[in-house]
Amino acid sequence: MPVSRCLGGSSYVLPTMKTKNCPRFWSRTAFVWLFLSMALAGCIESFSFNPLSWFRGPVPIVIPWDSISPPPITAEVELLDPLPIEIGRVPEPGRYEQDLDVIHYDVELVIPPTNDRISSRTTIRYLRDRAGPHSLTLDFSGLSTELVTAEGRVLPFVQEGGLLRFDTPGRPGVFDTVQVEIMARGVPDDGLILRDNVHGAPTAFADNWPNRARYWFPSNDHPSDKATATFTVHVPGERRVVANGVQLGPPVPADSQRTGGVEGLLTWRWENRVPIPTYLMVVGVGEMEVAGNGLAACGQSPESSRGDGCIEVTSWVFPPDTALAREAFSRAAEMVDLYVDLFGPYPFQKLANVQSSTSFGGMENASAIFYSEETIASGADIEGTVAHEIVHQWFGDSVTPADWQHLWLSEGFASYFGPFFWVQTQGDAAFRERIETLRNNYLASNVTGRPVLDQDVTNLLQLLNENSYEKGALVLHMLRNVVGERAFFNGIRRYYQRFAGGNVTTDDLQMVMEDAHGEPLDWFFRQWLHRPGYPALRVEWSWESELNQAQVRVIQEQDDLWPTFRMPMEFEFLMEGGVHRVTDWVDGREWTRDMLVPERPTDLRLDPDGWLLFEQVGVTGP
Ligand SMILES: [Zn+2]
Repeated sequence: MPVSRCLGGSSYVLPTMKTKNCPRFWSRTAFVWLFLSMALAGCIESFSFNPLSWFRGPVPIVIPWDSISPPPITAEVELLDPLPIEIGRVPEPGRYEQDLDVIHYDVELVIPPTNDRISSRTTIRYLRDRAGPHSLTLDFSGLSTELVTAEGRVLPFVQEGGLLRFDTPGRPGVFDTVQVEIMARGVPDDGLILRDNVHGAPTAFADNWPNRARYWFPSNDHPSDKATATFTVHVPGERRVVANGVQLGPPVPADSQRTGGVEGLLTWRWENRVPIPTYLMVVGVGEMEVAGNGLAACGQSPESSRGDGCIEVTSWVFPPDTALAREAFSRAAEMVDLYVDLFGPYPFQKLANVQSSTSFGGMENASAIFYSEETIASGADIEGTVAHEIVHQWFGDSVTPADWQHLWLSEGFASYFGPFFWVQTQGDAAFRERIETLRNNYLASNVTGRPVLDQDVTNLLQLLNENSYEKGALVLHMLRNVVGERAFFNGIRRYYQRFAGGNVTTDDLQMVMEDAHGEPLDWFFRQWLHRPGYPALRVEWSWESELNQAQVRVIQEQDDLWPTFRMPMEFEFLMEGGVHRVTDWVDGREWTRDMLVPERPTDLRLDPDGWLLFEQVGVTGP
């Protein structure tokens, strides 16, 4: 057959292939993939697919990367499908201590009309401290790696246990960026969800938190390694593609050489120029209608490429749901402006609100927030979620926790500042109500026995709990009470200004807030974040009418393993003629104070404005 004749006489050393006399269709590129496909399908019997043994030849295999198309993705070619790894698995200690700093991911995907598999080519540019040859370990699970190259050389690789390992040649003595290219295909086990949407139309949406980018592109899948990214996605004509960053021109007819022979696709390109962690790098594909929701952050969006310095706020939704979505996202631009005032400049190039198949209610993907498709299709009120995800653009996406254990720096901030939108629109009482809900949720949860900074979770998904969200938000609320309005908001702005685009730990926040406050806050961070629990307070009070004095005793009854809390408590005495408030620092397991009150109180209330997190075990008066 023509194929064998064209291959005739050549070994598997690719450069020796003679393609000149073959029909034009059988370009060298096609041979590479034909050969790989045949090997995978078992057509070449003497060749058992062991990439290491295959590529470990004495003759270096040099092929120009740009001449290779992604692998064919026809169903006839059997997939070598590596076993999936557990979702959210906590990494092995030391896993991310390798000498690797990814600068840029260039991810190219082919999504065929059948929407049941993908092929991909990912180019990774990275820096390392050491020069010379070295080995590289990337996270990559589920898809079948078919080719790894660096500087035109085909590299032997091993893919197992969710990791892709290979040695790169490097140039001794040269400290430089290194670029590697990986081609793969298959059905993602997770991370990029290929499925029909609520209306039965095919969609593909990435959903990466906490470390699920590895299921669709090879990566250093850790929040501390931020990088820029470009996405080139070849999809059927009726589907649109949204991603982080800005769109590079309108979609164009795809080059079938780049789509592994799938005809009739359109190529969409997006570029994200602001470094972000892999858990926020997304593409979304489906039949979507795009609507404008206004401009925002005008003059306060340094990344904007618009002449007027604003960012565009848009929504990308399934056509049957456009009316519902118009309502859901109608105030998104207003929210962005509020948070610009509160925190500082908007960190990204645009803001798209996208109806998607995320497994979360909302996922704050940088500049392309994904919302649950069911929630939007049901017409539910999601304004609270929208505000929460928009806050994440500053805290989580721009100022990113350096490790998953510091998740509260993302979720606590979004849970606290999200409700600020209603301070503006509905007044302080609506905000206090939301704080009260956070408090009740946390107290009723089953995570009170663990600290917010939890080193002992066995799966990262366990961190999506009331410690990271509710208690994290309440910690910020209490911090505001301790340091005062001015120091708190100055501190938050300084913290953003200082760490925008970077990574943080809880110590970084503490340092900035101590600076703003002018006093140490170690005691505060230790008791609320490093240790578990909350104060359980029993209060006893008596009245001495000769002295017009109440004696108040506060007993901290919480578990002995929990800290003894120190907090500024406001006591409100209810009297016939009104109320009288006294604020004092409660400290120690048993605490007693004499307080002057103008007249005999009828009752005593603790923390009337709801600043603190505690459980009131009981108040006993005379
Ligand atoms: Zn969140």
